[in-house]
Parts: sequence; structure tokens; C-alpha cells
Amino acid sequence: MTLPLYVQGAWFGGALLFIVGLKGMSSPASARRGIVVAGYGMLLAIAATFLIPGLQNLALIALALAIGGGGAWLSAQKVKMTDMPQMVAIYNGMGGGAAAAIAAVEFAKGDTHGLVATTLATLGALIGAVSFTGSCVAWAKLQGVLKKAWRLPAQNAVNVLLALLSLGLGLAVIGLAPQQPELVIAFFVVALVLGLVVTLPIGGADMPVVISLFNAFTGLAVGFEGYVLGNPALIIAGIVVGAAGTLLTQLMAKAMNRPLSNILFTPMVASGPGEAISGTMKEVGAIDAAAMMRYAAKVIIVPGYGMAVAHAQHKVWEMTSILEEAGVEVKFAIHPVAGRMPGHMNVLLAEAGVPYDKIFDLEEINAEFGQADVALVIGANDVVNPSARTDKASPIYGMPILDADKAQNVIVIKRGKGTGYSGVENALFYTDNCRMLYGDAQPMAGEIIQHLKSMG
Ligand code: NAP
Repeated sequence: MTLPLYVQGAWFGGALLFIVGLKGMSSPASARRGIVVAGYGMLLAIAATFLIPGLQNLALIALALAIGGGGAWLSAQKVKMTDMPQMVAIYNGMGGGAAAAIAAVEFAKGDTHGLVATTLATLGALIGAVSFTGSCVAWAKLQGVLKKAWRLPAQNAVNVLLALLSLGLGLAVIGLAPQQPELVIAFFVVALVLGLVVTLPIGGADMPVVISLFNAFTGLAVGFEGYVLGNPALIIAGIVVGAAGTLLTQLMAKAMNRPLSNILFTPMVASGPGEAISGTMKEVGAIDAAAMMRYAAKVIIVPGYGMAVAHAQHKVWEMTSILEEAGVEVKFAIHPVAGRMPGHMNVLLAEAGVPYDKIFDLEEINAEFGQADVALVIGANDVVNPSARTDKASPIYGMPILDADKAQNVIVIKRGKGTGYSGVENALFYTDNCRMLYGDAQPMAGEIIQHLKSMG
């Protein structure tokens, strides 16, 4: 059926808004606006769908929209900033699942005419199904529901076998027209199991890369199904998400210094007990920490996941402003995987009003730690662990880290002796130049502010 021009035009307009929205998301300054613009794009695309002549099942569509939209609205209101990665993972999964469901419906209707449409429907179904179950596992791991990394004996061989089997079944689905229901069901079951089996062994610090890989998968699957449905909004949105997800996956893998093949086939595990760490942790009080920074020429702040948990970003910015007024040069060093989602720290610091010209990436700032009088580590752990440089047995070995240990003095604000996300002990905390300021990051930053103010 040829759709009316106003429907096609509205879908195309929606797709353009997605692109403008994505452009906005490339900087923390315009990210909020970008999300809103992309949201309007989605609204336009959905509204146009209702204008398709002869559209059936209106009540069912409205019910699905109410359930999906209502659930998303409620969860978005309630989600804590620290739980965002799980939310992103599960929404990714929903996108992949939706793409696979579109293909399933088209197969059931026998509506995939022509080799190209059937091939794309099948590919979209495969990728979407893998992304669906894989993202559900990622959600369960990040939510703490699944604590163990399950690894099968001969895991890689099982992965390859399942991948080949799903491809074989997919080829059979493409080759046999009309499709056989049993074959289509077997194809979907194997694809869903493949997503589970590939993702279950992946754990710890590799999870961000996996989430962004599934993001790319979901985009591709949606794009393919858009072609099958003849919907330009789905095609363009899918391609945009697929391309952005692929770029993000590459960036994250580079940040972890882990080729994607290693992430999927050689999950991070400690290959031994790790190097013994010598030395002791030495405590410091808030007043001494304040004095060290007040009389420093240069301070570099390294925020991490703990700053997000404590919502300490506003206090940290207040502290920075006081130090700058006292003539101290202050910079922020951001590790690409600090926190629990890409750009986590940038978003928090932007929300607190920290100007972008004070925020530096790992490559930009690492050489400067040697000239810093103080490196203030706030709720960060793995991203400043020097074992990543030296300890070949460590599961984070090879990950580039922020060289906070090279500063003259290091002050670490954290609540106790908890390890970071990777569960690895941090050699930095035991070095001679490091002092621990124990406490929740927000009240601790508040105490430092009080002492700085009293120092004038
Ligand atoms: P981290 O290694 O997880 O360490 C965070 C530290 O913050 C903990 O050692 C904890 O110690 C402390 N902390 C927690 N709550 C606190 C509070 N209220 N006040 C003060 N300190 C608090 O964090 P990171 O250095 O930012 O590294 C991120 C890790 O997460 C990496 O391993 C990365 O691979 C992984 N990851 C990243 C992403 C991403 O996309 N960015 C996604 C998933 C996983 P105490 O318990 O002693 O306070």
C-alpha cells in the first residue's frame, strides 16, 4: 500500500528531529535539548502512524502505548541517577525485542515479499533477539540480581556453535517461502539463547562496552525492520542509533584497552592472586585536606562513581570555586569509564555548573598529574588503580588509568575500605603520598568547604 504523502512526510520529519536531537547530545551543554528534540521526533512519528488509512486494532495499539509509555514514564520519574545504566540496558533490550517481534509478525502473516525484505527481516530478528536477551542479562547484572559470571565449559565453542546454528536456521527461514512455523520458532529460540549464552560470562568492567554494543545491535535491527515495513522513520532512526552505538562501542573498548573480540571471547578474570600490596592506608582529617589544597598551586580532582552515589557534585563545585578564589588552579580529570555509564561524570559536573573548559579527558590531563600538588580522588577507585599498569594478574591489567599517583599528594575521599566495581584492591591507597579521608563524599566536601572558609 502506498502511504499518503502527509504520513511519509511526518515520518521523515520525525527522523530529521532524531538526527538534530543526536547532534545536541554530542555536548553536555546541549544534551538535554537534544533529548527533548528527539522525543518530539518520536511523538511526531507515532502520531503520523495513527493517520495511516485503514489502520486496524486501534484499541490494542492505544493499550500497548499506554502500558509502554506509562511504564516508561513512571520508571523514569523514579530511577536513581546511579541506576541509569540498568535502565539504558533494559530499554535497549526492549528496542531489540520490538524489532524481533516485528519480524515474527511479518513471518506469521507471510508478508515478507522478496529476497531482500525476507533477508533483512531475518537479520533484524536475529540481531534484535540477541540484543533482547543479552540486554536483559546486562540489566540483571547491573541491578545486582545476577551476581555471578556464568561460564560454560568450552564457552567459546558453544558461542560459535549457537551462532552458526542461528545463521543456518535463518538461511532456512529465508530460503523456504512461505516460512514454516516450526522453523521460525526454532530460529527465534536459538537466537534468544545465543544472546543469553554470549552475555552471561561477561562481567565487571566489560559491561559498559557490552551495553553499547547491544545498543548498536538494536539500532541495526530496527533499521532492517524499518525497511521491511517501508517506514523511513524506523530506517533512519535505526541507522543513526546503529552508527552512534558502533562508535561508542569502539571508544569504550579503546578506553578499556580491550579489543571487542577479547571482551566477547575472553572475559576479564584474575589470572592469579595478584601482586601483594605493601604499605598501610594513612588517614587524614578534613582540616588537613583543606589546608593541603588551600596552599597548593595546582589541584586535580578525579571524580568517580562514589561522587554520583553521594550527589556530591554541587559541593565539589562550591569547593572548587573557593579554591580558585584563593588562587589555586583546579582541573577535573575524567576517565572514560568513570561512574556507571558513558559520560556519567561529565553530566553530573555539567549539572552542577562546572564550566567545560575545566574538564579534561584522560589523554589531555594525564601528563599534568606530575605537576599537581594535590590529586583529590572523590569516590573513584578502579580508574586510579596503578595495578592496571603493572600487575599482569589483575583483571583490570592494561586498562589505561588516570595517573593520580604521580601527583605530589593524593587525597582519597571514600566511605571505607570498599573496593571498586572490579572488586580489586587499590595499590594507590597504600602509597606513601596518599591520604584517606573517610566518609560520604557530600558531607566530607562540605567539611572541607567549612575549613576553607575559615582559612580565609
Ligand atoms: P569504582 O571503581 O566503582 O569505585 C567507586 C568507589 O566509590 C568505591 O570504592 C566506594 O568505596 C566509593 N563510594 C561509594 N559510595 C560512596 C559515597 N557515598 N561517598 C564516597 N565514596 C563512595 O568507581 P570508578 O573509579 O568511577 O570506576 C568505574 C568502574 O565502573 C570501572 O571499573 C568501570 O569499568 C565500571 N563501569 C563503568 C561503566 C561506565 O559506563 N562508566 C558502566 C559499568 C561499569 P567505599 O565503599 O569505601 O566508599
